[in-house]
Amino acid sequence: MTDTLINRRDLDFLLYDVMDTASLSERERFNEHSRETFDAVIETADRMAREKFAPHNSQADKEEPRFVNGQVEMLPEVKEAFKAYAEAGFIAGRFDYDLGGMQLPESVMAACNGFFTAANPGTAGYPFLTTAAANLIKVFGSEEQKAKYLPPMLDGRYTGTMALTEPHAGSSLSDIRTTASPTDDGHYLIKGAKIYISGGEQSISDNIVHLVLAKIKGAPPGVKGISLFIVPKFLTDDQGDVTGRNGVALAGLIHKLGYRGTTSTALSFGDDAPCHGYLVGEAHQGLKYMFQMMNEARLGVGFGAAVIGYRGYLHSLEYAKDRLQGRKPSDPDPTKPPVPIIEHADVRRMLLAQKAYVEGGLALCLYGARLVDDQNSHPDATAREEAGKLLDLLTPVMKAWPSEYGPKANDLAIQVYGGAGYTREYPVEQCWRDNRLNPIHEGTNGIQALDLLGRKIWQDRSHGLQLMMQRLQVDLEAATTSRCQQWALSLSETLQRAVKVTQDLGAALQKESPDRVLANASCYLHLFGHISVAWMWLRQANVAEARLAEPGITEADRNFLEGKLQAAQYFFHWELPTVAQDIVLLQNRDDTCLEMRGEWF
Ligand SMILES: Cc1cc2nc3c(=O)[nH]c(=O)nc-3n(C[C@H](O)[C@H](O)[C@H](O)COP(=O)(O)OP(=O)(O)OC[C@H]3O[C@@H](n4cnc5c(N)ncnc54)[C@H](O)[C@@H]3O)c2cc1C
Repeated sequence: MTDTLINRRDLDFLLYDVMDTASLSERERFNEHSRETFDAVIETADRMAREKFAPHNSQADKEEPRFVNGQVEMLPEVKEAFKAYAEAGFIAGRFDYDLGGMQLPESVMAACNGFFTAANPGTAGYPFLTTAAANLIKVFGSEEQKAKYLPPMLDGRYTGTMALTEPHAGSSLSDIRTTASPTDDGHYLIKGAKIYISGGEQSISDNIVHLVLAKIKGAPPGVKGISLFIVPKFLTDDQGDVTGRNGVALAGLIHKLGYRGTTSTALSFGDDAPCHGYLVGEAHQGLKYMFQMMNEARLGVGFGAAVIGYRGYLHSLEYAKDRLQGRKPSDPDPTKPPVPIIEHADVRRMLLAQKAYVEGGLALCLYGARLVDDQNSHPDATAREEAGKLLDLLTPVMKAWPSEYGPKANDLAIQVYGGAGYTREYPVEQCWRDNRLNPIHEGTNGIQALDLLGRKIWQDRSHGLQLMMQRLQVDLEAATTSRCQQWALSLSETLQRAVKVTQDLGAALQKESPDRVLANASCYLHLFGHISVAWMWLRQANVAEARLAEPGITEADRNFLEGKLQAAQYFFHWELPTVAQDIVLLQNRDDTCLEMRGEWF
């Protein structure tokens, strides 16, 4: 088993050579930082993840949190790790200095968080939710709410949750039934039930700040009637002293396939005692506010899926170098010693596929983090606006593609281990179980597909799509060596076919039933995702070729860069061509699934 969480050489390559993250320190917001401070924070994250998060990853999976007398009992190591994370300043990492933050770029924070998720996704869930909930309060909360909740959330005394899902309403949030009734003193009483709420109860923090979606009585139907409330577990006064227990109660813990270290809770609001909720922003605007947290979480889910995939890849790579089995077809002599399985082409296929998926997924998510930075801190207003549009377009892809291909990578890691991979003695089965959540939560990948084809592509007269095409064109033209040019050509041809099919789908949406046009939205998401990741591989390949041409390159560097190019080749030869099938199905608006009837199954 390797204790490497993410290959630092690879991360440096992506962050600095491909994404030019060091240049962010030239921006006003980050001008107290430099490559050295970025590296120091990343180094701390890597070390802390190995020392505080990784050691209890397997134990937290085996000894799930337990529901005892209305409370949660869980491993003490989870609390210790959370505390260490908070004390090192990671919860507040990207927040302003005057909030106690480090004003670090999202690109750097995302990289740091990659180590924690790779080490222990269950424990990492608590601080990540807290950061995102605090960010929502920072942007949309009142001054009073900010003063009351931000300091204890950012220093780790309080944690945060997002409470959207109800037993009968998961994908379809317009149907939520939790209600909010106004009181005379300006706040609300919340009544209802939520399910699957991550971190909804635990034994690691003094208080929990639930961000709850509910409908104020008399609100318009559907999503336009949803409001957002802060519902603290403990009520506090202005000094932060506890004045009482709020009427939000743990109704039960949910037992899961993976991610077992993060509690999944069923919560009841206002059943046994009044549950006080405090409106965030304006009434009926709640889903809009919550979308900030959801979009952030969607990028986080994609990132998490990529790094859990990465972890499995590194484990299986090490195993493949050690495990001796069989001989080459060209030299089957049984008197000779067996070879390490990495010598077999089929094992290399499985390793290369993993490498292509996880390093491609990681590149895509780091690109997303960079867009967040550009949206928030680029000195040019147009560049900020364009980054926001591109981010909006790509968010469903950045959530869905890594969460589809991260678990696929973990599946291949199990296969590389053979029988050992199927046992609980080795870590790859847990990687797969943990990662299998990612296509489901934060909007299933089916919902992401509908979001992409039904909305994001056409939004703002497809401006986001045009921006992506322009940027892609720059990288296509930057291909200078013959192999990169060959890959650029195949990407360019695929792109032309994708543009044509997109135009046809757009026209079809004007005159045909959306049921038919959107029936194969998942194919569109696959097509779009593969083009996006091929783009990321071309960017990596262009840089790798340039580095290889530099004089005095070390052998280790040469090996690393050749590995990048081989993985790029894998993606262009083995993966990109698979979109041909999507294009045919989309072009024909294939109605096989749409026309299948329930009674025919
Ligand atoms: C471990 C875990 C942690 C979670 N954490 C949280 C949390 O912290 N907070 C929170 O609020 N929620 C949380 N969730 C809930 C999660 O977001 C939902 O499970 C998810 O959105 C799907 O909702 P659902 O389970 O009700 O499935 P459903 O909505 O019933 O969907 C079932 C299937 O139908 C498909 N489907 C549904 N509607 C459509 C449609 N219109 N068109 C096409 N296909 C459709 C879906 O893609 C899916 O395949 C968590 C879930 C899990 C499992």
